[in-house]
Amino acid sequence: MFSFSRESEKRGKEIVRNLYYFPENQMLDCNQYIIEDPDTKELALFDTGNGISLNGLFKGMKQLNLDPINISKVFLTHEHVDHTLGLYPLMEFFREKPPEILAYGETAKILREGDISRIFPGNLGIKPSMFGVEIIPLKVTDLERMKEIEVFSEFKFEIHYTPGHSLGSISYYEPTKKILIPGDLVFQAELRYNIGSFGRYDFPGGSLETLKKSIEYVSKLNVLTLLPGHMNIVEENAGQHIALAYKTIQTLHY
Ligand SMILES: [Zn+2]
Repeated sequence: MFSFSRESEKRGKEIVRNLYYFPENQMLDCNQYIIEDPDTKELALFDTGNGISLNGLFKGMKQLNLDPINISKVFLTHEHVDHTLGLYPLMEFFREKPPEILAYGETAKILREGDISRIFPGNLGIKPSMFGVEIIPLKVTDLERMKEIEVFSEFKFEIHYTPGHSLGSISYYEPTKKILIPGDLVFQAELRYNIGSFGRYDFPGGSLETLKKSIEYVSKLNVLTLLPGHMNIVEENAGQHIALAYKTIQTLHY
């Protein structure tokens, strides 16, 4: 059975100047990242968690002097429940002046249509009401035609389409700072055992073959800092974790 906590604070930390990491702290949630504009105090949020964890995120943000009311942009890595469900309470929190939501292709389409079956993939045995959330159509900016997005002038992310875990999965790559936000494409490897880690490919729209290609693709980027959707982040030499993910996934056959 899943257990969720509305109150547990997400303890964040600044990992690169003006970029903060808030680790997942409950079932079916995700890591979240926030970039602050040092001049205007505006905030960009990467992934929204499961919705129940939103209070905990807000608490954690306040500890770091980040005011949730200043969130002006929400970037999504893909359409799944643990990354997007927080959008609905977040929009309710803002009402008057909601932040801009940005997502790629299929993810944008699914959120615009409020397609529950795609937000809740497969047979996870969960539904929106368990999170106290109602899925409604949202206004979403599609990143599909954008090669690059500027986040408060200091961060310029390239948008790379990296499907395989889901059809709407993308990776955000900052080439100057060598930061990769890959959603559920690749995770921290088990270096001791020489085993790489990557996202599931058995949900609808997932594909092992496509996941392999996407991992091969990001393995060619120069990555120092890996900020994945789940588990630990990697703050140095992240390239070797991605290389291991690619090595490990090549041993799987379909
Ligand atoms: Zn996912």
